Amino acid sequence: MVRVRYAPSPTGTLHIGGARTALFNYLFAKHHHGRFILRVEDTDRARLVPGSEEAMMKGLRSLGIVWDEGPDVGGDYGPYRQSERVKRHQQALEQLLAQGLAYRCYCTPEELEAEKKRLATLKLPPRYSGKCRLRPPDDPIYQSDKPFVVRMKVPTEGETVVHDLIRGTVVFENRILDDFVLAKSDGTPVYNFAVVLDDHDMGITHVIRGEEHLSNTPKQILIYQALNLPTPQFAHVPMILAPDRSKLSKRHGATSVEEYRQQGILPEALVNYLLLLGWSAPDETEIMTLDQAAKWFDLDRVQHTAAIYDYKKLEWM
Ligand code: GLU
Repeated sequence: MVRVRYAPSPTGTLHIGGARTALFNYLFAKHHHGRFILRVEDTDRARLVPGSEEAMMKGLRSLGIVWDEGPDVGGDYGPYRQSERVKRHQQALEQLLAQGLAYRCYCTPEELEAEKKRLATLKLPPRYSGKCRLRPPDDPIYQSDKPFVVRMKVPTEGETVVHDLIRGTVVFENRILDDFVLAKSDGTPVYNFAVVLDDHDMGITHVIRGEEHLSNTPKQILIYQALNLPTPQFAHVPMILAPDRSKLSKRHGATSVEEYRQQGILPEALVNYLLLLGWSAPDETEIMTLDQAAKWFDLDRVQHTAAIYDYKKLEWM
C-alpha cells in the first residue's frame, strides 16, 4: 500500500511551497488508495518557532488536506513528532558505531574552521579532513569526556544513484558527499539520519518533497544501505520561482496560506492554484475539486522544470 508523508520543520507558517508538497502527497495517496501522514520534524530545538506546528496544521486543514493517522486515536489526529523518536534514532546510531560504519569525531569547531580556510586558500571546496576517521580503536580520546559528533563513514570511491520518479536518474559521486554528520555533540541526530529511520519505521513507500532536498537523498540512501533497510522511492518536485525566475520571497506578494486567508482568497481557489503549479490534468482541465484532482493525480504529469508563481493570477481566481 502506498504510504506518503508531509514532514515540515516547525520553523514558521505554512508557506505555499510546503502547502504544495503536502497537496501532492495527499493527492498521490488518495489516487493510489494509500495513506497520507503528517510528521513534524522538530528535533532541531534551536530553530523551533512556538506555535508553528499548530499554524501549519490549521493551514493544512483549511485547505482540506487532512492526514489519515497519527499517534492519537479517534479521527482527529495529531501529527507524529520526530522528537518523540529520539531514543530510536540513538539506538540506530549506536548500531552504526558498533559496526564501524560511523565514527566519533572530536575535531573542535576551531579546527574545522581552520581546515576550511586552508582549503579555501587552495581554492578547494570545504571538506572534512578525515582525521578522526583514521584514529586507531585504542586511541585514549575514546576514554575522555571530550565532546564529539558522529560522522558517517562515506565510501571514498564509487557513486550513489538516485532513481527519481520526476527527475530520472541522478548520479552523485561519493567523494563529494564527505563524511557528513549524523548526530550533533549534544547527541541529537540530524535531519538526514532521523528522516531515514522515521520514513522506514512509518512504512513510507514514496518520499515526495521539494527539490531542495535532492542533494540530501544520496546521503539518506547511504544511511539506508548502512542500516540494511530497503530504500523508498523518491520524487523531487521542482521549485516554485517568482515571475522573474528569482527565489520566491515576500516582495513577490503573499506567500503563506494564512496571508491568503486574510485576503479573502477561497481555500478551493488556492488549492486549485497550487495544484497547477507544476502539475496539469490529462485533459488540461483547469478548475477542479480535490476529489476530482485525486482521480487524476500521478507523478508522471508533474513538470520537470521550475513552476512560476504569479500572485496576480491568484488574485483573479
Ligand atoms: N523537514 C524538512 C523540511 O521541512 C522536510 C524533509 C523531507 O521531506 O524529507 O524541509
